[in-house]
Amino acid sequence: MTPGVRPLIAGNWKMHGSMAEAEALAGAVRDGAAGLPADLLVCPAFLHVAAVARLLGGGAVAVGAQDCHAAAKGAHTGDVSAPMLRDAGATHVILGHSERRADHGETDAVVRAKAEAAAAAGLVPIVCVGETEAERLAGQAEAVVERQLAGSLPEGFAGVVAYEPVWAIGTGRTPTEADIGAIHAVIRARLAARFGAAGQGMRILYGGSMKPGNAAAILALPNVDGGLVGGASLVAADFLAIAKAAG
Ligand code: PEP
Repeated sequence: MTPGVRPLIAGNWKMHGSMAEAEALAGAVRDGAAGLPADLLVCPAFLHVAAVARLLGGGAVAVGAQDCHAAAKGAHTGDVSAPMLRDAGATHVILGHSERRADHGETDAVVRAKAEAAAAAGLVPIVCVGETEAERLAGQAEAVVERQLAGSLPEGFAGVVAYEPVWAIGTGRTPTEADIGAIHAVIRARLAARFGAAGQGMRILYGGSMKPGNAAAILALPNVDGGLVGGASLVAADFLAIAKAAG
């Protein structure tokens, strides 16, 4: 944790669930959210954002999306813009998740343009960075993360950074606490060098197989200001237990 920074626990629901299931999950998170030592955010699929936002009604649990287009509007079949998300009740958007970088060929430049669009629409961008297993084994984890940060964060960035080692996502494997601490220290140094005091206080989330059983140890590390949670965010009790572990 960073002194003076309230943790953020964000759930990435990915492409899971029906409308009714998304609403039930959101309701269960809301009902358990009181008194937790962290801000809570849930990020349903595009189709469910408006319904979940309506249900949560601007209360203690915020709503985000998992992507947005870099343009505010236009002929982009199948895409969703940042202003549309804002209009639907979202306050945050995850950008540059490794699944989007891999499945949709998103480059750092694309992620940067999306982060600019998100900020222009009044959304808080959560920009994901993280190395593959091959890059880690080659000793390049820090260099990859530094390169992604330099390329993906726009000037004046005022969002959240999520460190998500690709090989830890959905695998049940996590880096050692020392390795998480080392990368988060590198990210903090880069943010402070580029954004000054704002960078010192910017939230840096860890993501990758975070569970109730490992959350307390990870969230206690310096420069770990919360978590981006995939699988465990689909079970309200697990997601809330992770948030509780931030205290
Ligand atoms: C993610 O995809 O952002 C993630 C962290 O997934 P999981 O928690 O399932 O590893």
